[in-house]
Parts: sequence; structure tokens; C-alpha cells
Amino acid sequence: MLNLVLFGAPGSGKGTQSAKLIDQFGLYHISTGELLRDHIARGTELGKTADKYISKGQLIPDELMTQILEDVLDKHAGEKNGVVFDGYPRTIPQAKALRELLRKRGTDLHAVIGLEVPEEELIDRMLKRGQQTGRADDNLETIKNRLDVYHHQTCPLREYYTNEGKYIKVNGSGIVDEIFDDIASGIEAATGEKRRSPRH
Ligand code: AMP
Repeated sequence: MLNLVLFGAPGSGKGTQSAKLIDQFGLYHISTGELLRDHIARGTELGKTADKYISKGQLIPDELMTQILEDVLDKHAGEKNGVVFDGYPRTIPQAKALRELLRKRGTDLHAVIGLEVPEEELIDRMLKRGQQTGRADDNLETIKNRLDVYHHQTCPLREYYTNEGKYIKVNGSGIVDEIFDDIASGIEAATGEKRRSPRH
């Protein structure tokens, strides 16, 4: 079993690197942001509630978010060798909830990969993504709120996971494949798990 959190500010490349991680380590991908956008696109009640927070760059309440995560874990997590949590946890209560969810299922969180990218680059990347994909919360005003929320509510998790000995810092600027190489090497060193094919 290998359970990982991919941690980083909005725009730090979590989605891009998750795709490589699931392929190379045989993991199931749970992106809480994608789950919520899917509900919004389908017009569900949950989507309507989530949209009110997402459009302002705010976080969905912890209990609701954790309930959504638990439902997905129960439906799919057993299908693979473990899970990449992308975009969860974003608060200390969520981190505690995740520990409990995993403990109840007889497993644990093995490593937290922290993608670190300078703020100007994050803003540039999100503005570009907004133009290319039309993602509604990738506009300057909402981006600024999301970064503010990240600094106040999510950043404390770095210290939390550093104290647990689980935080692996990775420079998230540069070439996608080279960043992935650093991530994969960090996971291999920390957990003993091996990627499927070297240097991918
Ligand atoms: P993301 O795609 O991870 O950047 O998430 C997009 C938006 O979804 C965030 O700005 C939040 O409004 C919401 N969201 C995603 N994950 C969480 C979470 N773990 N807790 C609360 N809100 C979340």
C-alpha cells in the first residue's frame, strides 16, 4: 500500500504530477477540486453548494469535504495499490480526519510531497490555465483569494507533516519530467516503493 498527499499552492502542478504518479506507482487519484467541478457541471445540489465557495476562492466546509472524500474512498480506493490525495487535506482538521479515515481502513499516510513554486509563477500559470481551459476560478480576483486562503489555512500543514516526518519538499518550477523525477526519487527513498519504469 502507498498513500500519498500531493501538497502545494493552487497552480503548483498537483494535477499534472498526479497523472504521472498514478501511472508510475499504480495508484488511485482523488482530486477533491475535480470531484467538486464534476458536481457543478452536473448541476447536483452538492455542486450548487460547492459553487458558492469555489467561485469566491473559499474552502468548502471541512465536514462536507471529508464526507465527499470518504464516499469516494469507499467506492474506489481498494481498486489500486494506494491513493494519491490531490487537493486534500487543506486544513489541519482535514489532516486529522484523513489520518482517522486511513486508520479505520487499517492503513496510513506514507508521504506528503510538497510542490514549492514562487508566487508570481503560480499566478502566471493559473491565468494561462484560465485562458486555455475556461476554468471559472482562474481569474485574477479569485486567484488572489485562493492564495490568501492557502497562506492562512493550508500552509500550516507543512509544519504539521514536517513534524510527523512525512513532508518531502520538491522544487515545483521547471521541466515537468524533471520535477516528476525528483518526486519519484523522494517517494522511493522515503517508502521503498519503486516506480514502474525509471526516469519517467
Ligand atoms: P483545486 O482544483 O484543488 O484547486 O480546488 C478548487 C477549489 O475547490 C478550491 O479553491 C476550493 O474552493 C475547493 N476545494 C478543493 N479541495 C478542497 C478541500 N480539500 N477543502 C475545501 N475546499 C476544497
